[in-house]
Amino acid sequence: MAEIRNCAAPRSLADALRTLSSGPATVLAGGTDLMPQSRSGRVGFATTRLKIHGIAELRGVARRDAVVEIGALTTIADLRDDPVIRNDAQVLRKACDHFGSSQIRNAATIGGNICNASPAGDTLVPLLVLGATVVLASEGADGVAKRSLPLSEFLLGPGRTSRRSDELLVAVQMPVPQAGWVDRYVKFGTRWGLDISAMALAIGGTLCEGRLQHARVALGAVAPTAIRASEAERVLAAGTLDRARIDRAVDAADAAIHPISDVRASEWYRRELVHNLLRRVLTDVCQA
Ligand SMILES: Cc1cc2nc3c(=O)[nH]c(=O)nc-3n(C[C@H](O)[C@H](O)[C@H](O)COP(=O)(O)OP(=O)(O)OC[C@H]3O[C@@H](n4cnc5c(N)ncnc54)[C@H](O)[C@@H]3O)c2cc1C
Repeated sequence: MAEIRNCAAPRSLADALRTLSSGPATVLAGGTDLMPQSRSGRVGFATTRLKIHGIAELRGVARRDAVVEIGALTTIADLRDDPVIRNDAQVLRKACDHFGSSQIRNAATIGGNICNASPAGDTLVPLLVLGATVVLASEGADGVAKRSLPLSEFLLGPGRTSRRSDELLVAVQMPVPQAGWVDRYVKFGTRWGLDISAMALAIGGTLCEGRLQHARVALGAVAPTAIRASEAERVLAAGTLDRARIDRAVDAADAAIHPISDVRASEWYRRELVHNLLRRVLTDVCQA
């Protein structure tokens, strides 16, 4: 592990980006992933530690026209209680409700959950269903340079993202769901609270005359990243949501996953969870 020689705690985004552009730095937000990972020796710190929690402009939720924007430093507790999230992103609010403990929710940030890129990260599944994009900032020739990309492209593998070392995740954006939007979220763990998902799923779409249009299906902890099951989405959107279509969608979701066996669940059990819980939430939507 490299010796930590510098510790920066900027108050502005511009100052944080200047530090990042001047050499390797480890970004520290709430520290709820990074500190346990560093203590166990799984990750090492770069020579500069960049504490970003004092950058007020990266905190909070805003709705502009038909887009909801969440600052990267917004905590899970703040997200859970936010009125915009309650109105326009219920599926994300539900995930925040089942996240860690109150101590963890008060420190953990949405940006940290995304950048940690765990296949079991609890905000990732609802964000995928809501069609989220991530906004990354770096120091540019004329000030702050930003780029956006879909969350599904940002997540590359366990602990791996397409963030460059000079970039900071500054926000996540998602369109406000259309009228008639329905969604469901399920997290399955071995106990009710303070548990990492053995499997999580979310579905969403616009229910119109028995069809789930613009259907989205996202699955967590059953592949190297949280994923969208696009073939299952295509099957669902193609016609009336009935039992036969639900069976086909479940089969398509099964073909999209690559679960592993670990301390939380076996591969077989994770497949059973996807089969049973996806069928259950789709049946629930069908009967609504
Ligand atoms: C007891 C316990 C329970 C937990 N329960 C859950 C749970 O139920 N569900 C769940 O999903 N997770 C859970 N976690 C994991 C963790 O709390 C979350 O992943 C949390 O959202 C991480 O956010 P953080 O701000 O603490 O990130 P940090 O630990 O500060 O950072 C995590 C990673 O992201 C990087 N990073 C952070 N912010 C940025 C940014 N803005 N730009 C670029 N890189 C950044 C860091 O460099 C680091 O690599 C739990 C952890 C603990 C210790």
